[in-house]
Parts: sequence; C-alpha cells; structure tokens
Amino acid sequence: MSYLYDAYIKNNVQQNWFKKIDALAEKFAERADKYDRESSFPFKNVDELKKAGYLSLTIPKEFGGEGLSLYEFVLLQERIAAGDAATALCLGWHLGCFLELAEERTWKEETFRSLCEKVVQDLALVNRAASEPATGSPTRGGMPQTKAVKQGDNWVINGTKTFTSMAPALDYAIVSAQIGDTGKKGNFLVDMKQEGVSIEDTWNTVAMRGTRSDDLVLKDVKVSEEALVEEERGKLDLPKAWLLHIPACYLGVAVAARNEAINFAKNYKPNSLPGAIAEVPEVQRKIGEMELELFKARELLYTTAAKWVDEPEARMDMGPSLMAVKHVATNSAAKVVDLAMRIVGARSLAMSSPLQRHYRDVRAGLHNPPMDDMVISAMAKRALNE
Ligand SMILES: Cc1cc2nc3c(=O)[nH]c(=O)nc-3n(C[C@H](O)[C@H](O)[C@H](O)COP(=O)(O)OP(=O)(O)OC[C@H]3O[C@@H](n4cnc5c(N)ncnc54)[C@H](O)[C@@H]3O)c2cc1C
Repeated sequence: MSYLYDAYIKNNVQQNWFKKIDALAEKFAERADKYDRESSFPFKNVDELKKAGYLSLTIPKEFGGEGLSLYEFVLLQERIAAGDAATALCLGWHLGCFLELAEERTWKEETFRSLCEKVVQDLALVNRAASEPATGSPTRGGMPQTKAVKQGDNWVINGTKTFTSMAPALDYAIVSAQIGDTGKKGNFLVDMKQEGVSIEDTWNTVAMRGTRSDDLVLKDVKVSEEALVEEERGKLDLPKAWLLHIPACYLGVAVAARNEAINFAKNYKPNSLPGAIAEVPEVQRKIGEMELELFKARELLYTTAAKWVDEPEARMDMGPSLMAVKHVATNSAAKVVDLAMRIVGARSLAMSSPLQRHYRDVRAGLHNPPMDDMVISAMAKRALNE
C-alpha cells in the first residue's frame, strides 16, 4: 500500500474495507480506457462493487447497512477514483444519497427503511436527478421545470432531467420537481421501471464518459402520494457534507496521474542522460510540487471529514469549510494532472496514455457542485457576517 493511503487509515474496519476496494480498483484501472473510449457504463465494475457489499456502505446498521461514516466514504471513493473516476463519481452519488438521508432523517422512517432494504436485499442503485437545462446547477436555486400535478390520490410527473449519472443502471431516481402551482420544490422517489420513464442517450462529452449522465425523461409518470419524499425546507438544512465525495473523486484522478508520471520518470532513460529523468532536478521539482498539492488538498479533505464525524455539534457551521475543500481539491487535482503531463511530455497526449483521460476527467470537477464562484462567495459572506 502507498504512504498516501496509510496516513489516513486509522482502524481495522477501514483497513479491511480499504484492502477489498484497493483490489477492485486495480482491476477498474485496467478497464478504464475501454469504458472511456466506448463512453459505456462500467457495469462490470459496479457488479463487482455490488458483490462486495459496497452499495450498503452508508446505509444505517438498523436497516441492514454497514453504517459507515463520511470519513470511510471519502477514503474508499478516492481509491476507486484512482482506478476509474467515472465508477467512483457514480457510486458517490448513490452512497451520498444514503449518507445524507441517514444523517438528516427527513424522510418518513417507513419510506427510508423500505428504500434501504431495496439496496441491501436487491442491490438497487439510486441517484438524485436534480439538474435541468433551464435551471443549470440545482445548487444555484433555480425552479425545476419538471412538474408534479395532483390527480386524485396520485402525483403525475412531467419533465426532463439532464446529467442523470448511471442512467442505464439506475433502479430509483429521486427527482426534483415543482409541486403543482405552489411555487415550491419537492423530491419524488421514482421507480425507473415505472410507465412513462425513459432515458435519452444525450451524454456525449469529453469527460467522465463512463458515468452515462444521460437525460431522464418523465412523461405522465403516475406515482403514489407517498412518492413525495421531501418538500423544500428552509435555511435549517445541514450543510451537504456528503458532497465531499466530489473532491475525493478528483483527488483520486490526481493520484492516478501522479503515479503514472512518477513511474514514467523512474523508467524513461533518453540517451542524452546518464540515467532516468527522475534524476533531473527540474523533474524532481515538478514531482515535489505534485506532492505538495496533494498533501494540502488531502489533508484538508480528511481533517474536514474527520471533524464532521467527530464533532457533530460543529456541523451547522461547517458549510463554507466543506465548500472550501471542494474548491482546493478540484483545483489542486487539475494542477497535479497538468504537472504529471509536463513530466511525461508529449507522450502524455497519446490516446494510449491514461494521462489524456485524466486530463479530460479532472475538468469535470470544476462543474460539479459547489462551483468555484459559489465557494468564494460563501467564504466572503462568512467573513463579513462575523
Ligand atoms: C460528470 C457529471 C455528472 C453529473 N451527475 C449529476 C447527477 O447525477 N445528478 C444531477 O442532478 N446532476 C448531475 N450533474 C450536474 C451538475 O450538478 C450541474 O448541474 C451541471 O454540471 C451544470 O452545472 P453548470 O455550472 O455547468 O451549469 P449552469 O448552472 O447552467 O452554469 C453555467 C454558467 O452560468 C453561470 N451561472 C448560471 N446560473 C448562475 C447564477 N444563478 N449565478 C451566477 N452564475 C450563474 C455559471 O457560473 C456558469 O458559468 C453532473 C455533472 C457532471 C459534469
């Protein structure tokens, strides 16, 4: 195991999970290029994670899950991402849903229990479908154009959600919609087998191609009254700590790029030099810079995750700090990939090099929430309101 991970593995439960995930991530790394080239969903990776019990990681113990915390969640997600970033981002959405619901308990207990059981027993995959073309990122507060209208005892939902990661593999989607004409937003639990639910293959991007973040189309989808699982709340919401799976994911990409560059530097011996380029001071400087970026971003990620777990009373005030982790981590990750490519040189641009994939994937982190400008603004507000 690398010192990169040893520093953050603190007990046997983490050690055991890490070993299991580490072995799987090695295999994911071998398949990553294929899924990326095909822009196909990594079904095999997800099946292996299902068999390993990974889908239940953040489900509370009382509902049959592993009941693990934000800390273990980000630790394992980072490792998966160093193997295959698309697989990690997808599982991050699923596990993040359950971590948030477990910590906030905003759903009716029966509904939450029943969804947890579907994951534990039937290995169901769940994601939130919150983005739309008209609103852009849901974190900006726009009103969904997807609408749920009451008809008797049912809701009838119509609309299109964009960026629905895992679209071809999902069993349930938690769909944000306008509740009738109330001007309020709500979240509806939709079974993907429901009549009127379909997927449009719109995902044609340069980054995170394996996530298959396609459009989810809902046409006269009739769901029961209980499907309205959440209504818009107010400012009392806990900060979204589960979103730390996003910085963990892109730091995993950076670690993969760093490993590739160090390996190259140790083995590339042009005949203009007496040995490998790893001995060249400028190459060592770049390696040192990668390590520095990774150290500061990963320290921030893991100390913030540990604080969230160890100091529940501090959670309400942690919003801007959690957001800052995402800003630092995704920008550091982009810088590490850039440095790794500079070390490797033009070979990093070859389609056969994993670095060109990391270069594309790491860019997606900038457009996952919270976006940089929102982070800076939250930091400024906290300072001004002191
Ligand atoms: C790989 C990947 C996977 C994803 N998976 C999911 C998923 O599973 N489920 C899901 O719901 N979403 C998902 N998303 C969507 C994501 O959460 C965002 O909704 C999406 O990336 C759009 O964000 P955006 O910033 O590009 O768009 P926009 O919000 O439209 O922003 C575009 C530009 O307009 C500016 N802008 C827009 N509105 C404002 C405003 N109010 N104030 C200031 N500036 C503004 C932004 O700064 C930006 O420059 C995924 C995205 C990616 C890249």
